[in-house]
Amino acid sequence: MQKTQALELEAVRLDFPILKRKVHGKRLVYLDNAATTQKPKQVIDAISDFYTRYNSNVHRSVHTLGEEATAAYEGARTKVSKFIGCSASEVIFTRGTTESINLVRFAWGEPFVKRGDTIVATLMEHHSNLVPWQLLARKKGARLRLVGVNSDGTLDLGEFEKLMGASPKLFAVTHCSNVLGTINDVAKLCEKARRAGATTLVDAAQSVPHMPVDVSRIGCDFLAFSGHKMAGPTGIGVLYGRKGVLDAMDPFMAGGEMIKDVWEDRATWNDVPYKFEAGTVNIADTIGLGAAVDYLTSLGMSNVRSHEAKVTKYALERLSEIPGMKVYGPARADARGGVVSFNLADVHPHDMATILDEEGVAIRSGSHCAHPLVRSLGVPATSRASFYVYNSYDDVDALLSAIQKVRRLFKL
Ligand code: PMP
Repeated sequence: MQKTQALELEAVRLDFPILKRKVHGKRLVYLDNAATTQKPKQVIDAISDFYTRYNSNVHRSVHTLGEEATAAYEGARTKVSKFIGCSASEVIFTRGTTESINLVRFAWGEPFVKRGDTIVATLMEHHSNLVPWQLLARKKGARLRLVGVNSDGTLDLGEFEKLMGASPKLFAVTHCSNVLGTINDVAKLCEKARRAGATTLVDAAQSVPHMPVDVSRIGCDFLAFSGHKMAGPTGIGVLYGRKGVLDAMDPFMAGGEMIKDVWEDRATWNDVPYKFEAGTVNIADTIGLGAAVDYLTSLGMSNVRSHEAKVTKYALERLSEIPGMKVYGPARADARGGVVSFNLADVHPHDMATILDEEGVAIRSGSHCAHPLVRSLGVPATSRASFYVYNSYDDVDALLSAIQKVRRLFKL
């Protein structure tokens, strides 16, 4: 195949200082991007600049540092809103996808889900878009139903249609599977779910970092993602919420800044999104996330997507040539994100990951916080290589040659 790359790959790689380091004397080949991505110097510098020049709390003090910090914090909100196509008041900063989904569980689920209601999710969910709904269903006496997954790694749409017949209160679905790589047509699914009367939530942890995502096109009520998977810092994430839905919700955490007024026995709530941002927020990392959004915008999300799709296609083709190799998920690279889970004969994924690490190749092994899905594949675990903007065909070649070492060691 032709090895073309749309991004200025060498320039991109230079932006990520960590890619210069060696592991066990070998070039670092970082293929664990679904777990967390590396950070460009633009993001590292933005965080350092905040602490060096204008560290201060936000929304409180009228002094210069306070005003600069508030402007940078709210500037990041505006950047995120433009990045995903919503208004700034619909962007709530959280610690990450997990907290975003749990915010919905408590602030929306508590007041609106009632005994006998149905919640629909899918077998493809990460635990953070499954366990909160198990707990909510148990507490409320509601039913949780899961849409199954076909053998080609796609959702069972017949089962989805059937479950929509139960008029669910909530439909929660991942945009892109962190195990199979499957990209779900969330616009279509959410439209059908809304017609069935459901509030809709999209787990976009593996999509917002990798492809253009526009919430107004998806038409969902909630969408959650994490900064650390999109070249940004840990400890910061986003919950998009449709304005009308956010207004009707209870607060999440209570304390400073989320109130309008407080009396001895009661309080009134601040406007959204501040109603959901109690206490001192994660200012530095929000500013870092804003820098990550700037960085990805400068690359162009369509370029990010097409680069990753090419690298993934190359990886899928080359992996499938290896005897004894089982690759999970959709066969076509354009039907999936940059996540490739695999098993080689009966080599345990932890052995695979350990031997690859000796060659400088970092992958993940395990059940990827998706036990029901991995169990349904009939294996205890998989190995997973996942790509980002700085990965190259050379990185795939390094993966393949490290896998050849595994084959030699296991005499396969
Ligand atoms: N959903 C998906 C699809 C994920 O891949 C992850 C992270 N692996 C999460 C949710 C949870 O993200 P976080 O740990 O950043 O909250």
